[in-house]
Amino acid sequence: MKGFLRNRERMVREQIEARGVTDPRVLAAMRQIPRHLFVDEALQAQAYGDHPVPIGLGQTLSQPYIVALMTALLMVRPQMRILEIGTGSGYQAAILASMDAQVFTVERIKQLYAIARSRLLEMKFFNVRVKLDDGTLGWPEHSPFDRIIVTAGGPEVPSPLLEQLADPGIMVIPVGPTKREQRLLRIFKKDGRIHQEDQGGVAFVDLVGSHGW
Ligand code: SAH
Repeated sequence: MKGFLRNRERMVREQIEARGVTDPRVLAAMRQIPRHLFVDEALQAQAYGDHPVPIGLGQTLSQPYIVALMTALLMVRPQMRILEIGTGSGYQAAILASMDAQVFTVERIKQLYAIARSRLLEMKFFNVRVKLDDGTLGWPEHSPFDRIIVTAGGPEVPSPLLEQLADPGIMVIPVGPTKREQRLLRIFKKDGRIHQEDQGGVAFVDLVGSHGW
């Protein structure tokens, strides 16, 4: 246990703070959540490395820096309603939940959904709701969302997600014309207008669905 704590502290210092993510609430969340408990036991020793970690079924848990960067770009405040597309391991959802947000997360693969759901419940994250569905359709019953984060990359920004984003609202999403060649976009909705910022190149697993690949 001590070893994991030490690895987590090093991860925050060397991979996150050193690369310019300094938001204290994000750093606190990355220090608090036991990342190794979101991967298979055989991979726990690699959980704090500077790389993504496989979570089965061809999917991955993003590199720590990418999780921290996306979380910082979202500018989360307590009580915000946040929609995540791509629950995967549940780690990103746990990070957001630890920042006192109300988290709604959607996963399309049944086995991953089931594991993440029971894991988050076991860890007592009662402010996270998990749904099995095509997340490119959003979660209309719970919209609008103050923040939307998409952790898989598709060819376009799904229009249902733009519609379900609150005004004002922020969405962070990787988008690219070809698979594994994506730009991380931060999209602002304000006074009925959309404005977007390019945050650089990234490589996420595929966003698969009616508004994805
Ligand atoms: N945020 C995750 C990272 C998971 S990888 C974590 O913290 O572990 C991206 C996930 O997106 C995969 O589990 C994949 O199955 C899922 N995904 C891909 N397309 C999707 C869609 N249309 N709706 C919901 N989930 C999707």
